[in-house]
Amino acid sequence: MFRKVFIALGGLIGILVLIMVINALQFESLQIEDVPESTYFDFDEEGAIERFAESLTYETVSHEPGEVNEGAFIQFHNFLEAAFPQTFENLEVETVGDFTLLFTWEGTDEGLDPILLTAHQDVVPIESPDSWSHPPFAGEVVDGIVWGRGAVDNKNGVMGLLEAVETMLRENYQPERTVKLAFGHDEEVGGMYGARKVAELLEERGTEVEFVLDEGGFINDDQLPVDRPVAVVGTAEKGIASFELVVEGRGGHSSMPPRETEIGILASAIRSIEDNPFPASVSGPAQDLFRYVGPEMSFPEQMILGNLWLTEPLVIRMFEGSPATNAMLRTTAAPTMMKGSDKDNVMPSEAKIVVNMRIMPGETVESVEEDLKRKIDDDRVNIRHHREYTFDPSPVSEAGTEQFELLQESIMQIYPDVYVSPFLMVAATDARHYVDLSDHVYRFIPADLNEDEFDGLHAVDEQLRSEVYLRMVRFYQQLIMNAN
Ligand SMILES: [Zn+2]
Repeated sequence: MFRKVFIALGGLIGILVLIMVINALQFESLQIEDVPESTYFDFDEEGAIERFAESLTYETVSHEPGEVNEGAFIQFHNFLEAAFPQTFENLEVETVGDFTLLFTWEGTDEGLDPILLTAHQDVVPIESPDSWSHPPFAGEVVDGIVWGRGAVDNKNGVMGLLEAVETMLRENYQPERTVKLAFGHDEEVGGMYGARKVAELLEERGTEVEFVLDEGGFINDDQLPVDRPVAVVGTAEKGIASFELVVEGRGGHSSMPPRETEIGILASAIRSIEDNPFPASVSGPAQDLFRYVGPEMSFPEQMILGNLWLTEPLVIRMFEGSPATNAMLRTTAAPTMMKGSDKDNVMPSEAKIVVNMRIMPGETVESVEEDLKRKIDDDRVNIRHHREYTFDPSPVSEAGTEQFELLQESIMQIYPDVYVSPFLMVAATDARHYVDLSDHVYRFIPADLNEDEFDGLHAVDEQLRSEVYLRMVRFYQQLIMNAN
């Protein structure tokens, strides 16, 4: 009897392994082979780097939605006009929402939908200027590195795109397909007055867009177990909402506290949220990532990633260990701002804590609010919106489409030794405002960053090697050419 069960079990396992091996063998590469030679124009590289460095000297800092450092933006726009004379002369230039710029380079074929290439002019504030190796707004170039706030996020995009267009105009290039460039001025604080307004304007005009490319993923080395760096293209981004958990109290003196305090109640609420994480799954862009990168891995890894029907729980277990990969699998909740009373001997009359949520495609602001309520399960904890603006997750742009492959090929023309893959953006970009204009919205910065460059994002010592910036200019030219 036991023997029979044993044999049957062995047979089953054998079949299972066989299926896994077959699936792994059929896990075919989605990378493009035989990428054509690049065709971009050469340009004045030294001048391009100087212009890029100067762009970092304008303090186009965003602090709060609707609050704009006007002087800096006016000066920045004057500088752009002087730096890119051909572009300002030959393209239609519109100012939207005060300081956002929308350029239109009219194509010869009206039948083709335009492409929309975007970046943002604003930057995040400087927390501790004294900790910088080079002043954040000096635009210094030292030993081939351009230093300053905005070098990576995201004046490299604004300047790279303009430099590309200026170069192509100088070479008398004429696109068949219209090219639109949009440079928001408030991305870092939600984009409601910049990108949102551009999107509304284009929607009003009935513009349909072939594809949108905004800032997003980079070319990463060493992040994934493959033999080449991976260019990760955001095909969706998570939603955002901040909820305030509020417990009303009676105040009073701290010498006679009640058994259960306002802050104690809040603490249990947070405990419940952390003990009951949102469900994880390998789906959407995360699954696309494995489909694109998996076939380039070693055979045992292909067995795992090529058989998600069986291995998904294992993969989740592996990935939820690190915050960065965990964020790709599920909705996350991060307690951020906390407030009780202002004095050490006063009980708060109200205690609150803000929980910042990043919402997975498939869920909504509303659904996670309901989930929070269920997890907390305590009527004394009121949940309200902390900010006026919340964003549902973006739709997912399908990978493998003609538009995606055009981007994929353009990347490989400039970076022949990388793999390209879709992925989920866990941070927000202006791209979310543009999702109604096109089914193909991508988030990618064509830059192969090193560790120092990654570390400078929203932090001290933001920097970009000039060689990387030059590759960006080449890439944007190539992309515009390929779209034609
Ligand atoms: Zn940015």
